[in-house]
Amino acid sequence: MKSYQSMDHFWMPFTANRAFKASPRIIERAEGMWLHNDQGQKVLDATAGLWCVNAGHGRKQIADAVSQQIQTLDYSSPFNLGHDIGFEFAERLVKHTPAGLNRVFFTCSGSEAVESALKIALAYQNARGKGGKYRFIGREKGYHGVNFGGISVGGLTPNRKGFGPLLPVDHLPHTLDIERNAFSKGLPEFGIERAEELEKLLSFHGADSVAAVIVEPISGAGGVVLPPVGYLKKLREICTRNDVLLIFDEVICGWGRLGASFGSVKFDVQPDMITSAKGITNGVLPLGAVFVKDEIHDTVVNSAPEGQVEFFHGYTYSAHPVACAAGLATLNIYEEEGLLERGSGEIGEYWEQALHSLKGLPGIIDVRNCGLIGAVEFATADGSLVGPKIMQRCYELGMSIRAVGNAIALSPPVIIEKEHIDQIVDIFTQISREMF
Ligand code: PLP
Repeated sequence: MKSYQSMDHFWMPFTANRAFKASPRIIERAEGMWLHNDQGQKVLDATAGLWCVNAGHGRKQIADAVSQQIQTLDYSSPFNLGHDIGFEFAERLVKHTPAGLNRVFFTCSGSEAVESALKIALAYQNARGKGGKYRFIGREKGYHGVNFGGISVGGLTPNRKGFGPLLPVDHLPHTLDIERNAFSKGLPEFGIERAEELEKLLSFHGADSVAAVIVEPISGAGGVVLPPVGYLKKLREICTRNDVLLIFDEVICGWGRLGASFGSVKFDVQPDMITSAKGITNGVLPLGAVFVKDEIHDTVVNSAPEGQVEFFHGYTYSAHPVACAAGLATLNIYEEEGLLERGSGEIGEYWEQALHSLKGLPGIIDVRNCGLIGAVEFATADGSLVGPKIMQRCYELGMSIRAVGNAIALSPPVIIEKEHIDQIVDIFTQISREMF
């Protein structure tokens, strides 16, 4: 029974409000792989919410930990006061980060993690007497949240247009190359030369004006754009050679999405900072984090006189105790159930084979995948936009997906089983035959 009369008051984010409110999709509850809507229909959550519910919905262990924490310590200031759960959570988290990234700056979202990482980069450059390094380099199709720093380095035009002036930035070319790499399994073969563009940008702007480069190991919101073989290592090499920091935005890639704790672990490339959110609490409560190299932390912290604040930055809800409790319980589940590595095993292989079985169906021009992320790209004869219609049809057929243009992005909970994967493939098969 609805307790509201009208949908007018909630201005929905990143949603076509008028279309949605004319034909709403209301979710009432969720469990495991499934959303349950107000029509009594079960909807397969093929995107783990917004790439975040990695351990599946309705995990009792997390609910219990949250409830217990609210009753023990609901809130205390993170400025000049501490609580055990914040320190414990930070210590547990860094057991999963690449070696050397042992310092954690807590935020409330992925967007705030990005802003914080960019500011840490500037604070670090200042602290070591290189305040002239103020510029950032992002990448086309990159998504780094919606705050001003994030949209500056981000590479999705609608998110940037009309919001300027932005930070001093430049952008690498994206690495999506369907012509050469269509239907690649795992990392695509062609495109490492696009990393060389970084060398050109650094030479054009002067490396002594660049603080950091930020990229997602795999761009999610940009349409599941994979790095070509060797590309990330090349970026690392160029950044190191030019004394520029490398930030990996792993808000999506972290916490089991790629079959490892992080993309940097999976691809064996060590960034100087990692931004994280989403799966860090299984999406249950908002929390983000920046994992920072010891040397960066130490340089900033040791640069201020003893007794003075070293970094003028932080949030009311940094390391919120209830969010930390959700995060610790999530980490316990990931570790106990082996979920961080699951996508690298048999289920990851099944995912790959199943998605690629769609090759040859009408309208499908590419399938790409890595770990438990994937995309099915459609094209119409006249080049028109068909993604939103596919999203609606998937929902009618009992599956929630995300459309990025005509690419359908998939990122299911990593607890997914073969029968769910089969259902995803069956729905795409039906849609391809119906609509193309
Ligand atoms: N960075 C990346 C790579 C993301 O995918 C997202 C969200 O999808 C963000 C940052 C922003 O996170 P949030 O929506 O929690 O602010």
